[in-house]
Amino acid sequence: MNTSAPLTVAVIGLGAVGSMAAWQLSKRENVRVIGLEQYGRVHSHGSYAGESRVFRSAYHEGGIYVPMLLESRELWRRLEQESGREIYYEVGCLSIAQEDRIEYRTTLETVHDYDLPHELLDTDELRERYPQHRIHDGDKGILDAFGGGLRPEVAVMSALRLAEEAGAELRFNTPVLAIEEEPGGVVVRTPQEALRVDRVVVASGSWSNRIRPELDELLRLQVLGLTWFMPERGIEPFLPERFPAFLRDVGPVHFFGAPSFDGYSIKACSNPTWPVARDVREVPTAYTREELVKIGQQAAEFFPGLNPEPVRSSVHHCAYTPNRMPVVDLNGSSRIAVVAGLSGHGFKFAPKLGELAAQLAADGSTEGVPEEFALAHHMRVLRERGAYTGGGH
Ligand SMILES: Cc1cc2nc3c(=O)[nH]c(=O)nc-3n(C[C@H](O)[C@H](O)[C@H](O)COP(=O)(O)OP(=O)(O)OC[C@H]3O[C@@H](n4cnc5c(N)ncnc54)[C@H](O)[C@@H]3O)c2cc1C
Repeated sequence: MNTSAPLTVAVIGLGAVGSMAAWQLSKRENVRVIGLEQYGRVHSHGSYAGESRVFRSAYHEGGIYVPMLLESRELWRRLEQESGREIYYEVGCLSIAQEDRIEYRTTLETVHDYDLPHELLDTDELRERYPQHRIHDGDKGILDAFGGGLRPEVAVMSALRLAEEAGAELRFNTPVLAIEEEPGGVVVRTPQEALRVDRVVVASGSWSNRIRPELDELLRLQVLGLTWFMPERGIEPFLPERFPAFLRDVGPVHFFGAPSFDGYSIKACSNPTWPVARDVREVPTAYTREELVKIGQQAAEFFPGLNPEPVRSSVHHCAYTPNRMPVVDLNGSSRIAVVAGLSGHGFKFAPKLGELAAQLAADGSTEGVPEEFALAHHMRVLRERGAYTGGGH
């Protein structure tokens, strides 16, 4: 039996990464987990909101992510098993583009480099198998067999429940105002108290720069919206059994979405080029009418059966780094672990990031974290590049 005092770890932010970090930390012996969330349990203000997230393993963002995605796939399955909830719908993810597109070429490269299960479809095969899509002459498809949809709110809820069942203390409606290091530990200030802990995981998404000043220069918030459309006829062709998650790249338009998980509408989205923001307060709360009309026209162009008027829309935000790689690092004293800047595509690998956050905080080790995710590396990229690119999923 272990009789030493437990290591107390505060997890700040119980969204995508924080819920997974709390789940992973709660499995460790002799670790006391205190989770702090500014809103209630599973809310609509974070970057994980919006009913579904695309999972892909064939990754146009580059091979560096693939091992992490394959491990996340295992962890999504484990979360399902432990919670008894359905979270990961492995219905495939279909990327459609002309074959000279960089996105198409890099996706194909990762498929070959990592021997990922997939199907390649030519224009005729695409037209025959997926008449829901309007296929252009010369379009090619890559069907990523591990791809599909994740249920983000169910995932966060499940991880938090499991963490609590394993002894984690979770406090909601408790914003962290400041984190201060002192000899031998860290003080976490909330409106109610000054909490003394041994280690901290900062998993506070778009709000991270408010409590970690070193992120203020690096992170920018990108505005990302979601739109849902109804088919003019029945929903059947868009149900998960017949319609995989999808990405389409045509000219400057990046269109993405998921099958109908609610049996009512389908999520099909593209993002106007909104200016980046520094603080959540600057993020618009709704689309303009012009933006919705434009996305509706794109939806009708890509899907002949969809009614171009969205039945639902919502505007969100996500913290971005200049090269869209996440920050996964420990501060100098190794007491504060930061996982931030998931740059519009990080939900799919949140369980792996949660596992890494638990390792950083509990073991003080960065082993297995790609060097590119270190804060110092990001700052070098920022100085060289100085600009932010949009995109996501
Ligand atoms: C519209 C949209 C679509 C996306 N689509 C995809 C997709 O298809 N596939 C994919 O893989 N990724 C996608 N992403 C990206 C992914 O959802 C995000 O990268 C991910 O949710 C970020 O996780 P996070 O834990 O960093 O932040 P969040 O999930 O936002 O969690 C941060 C949490 O910290 C809390 N918090 C913040 N500050 C404090 C504080 N001071 N005190 C206490 N609590 C605090 C917040 O309230 C929040 O609950 C999308 C993002 C958006 C916005």
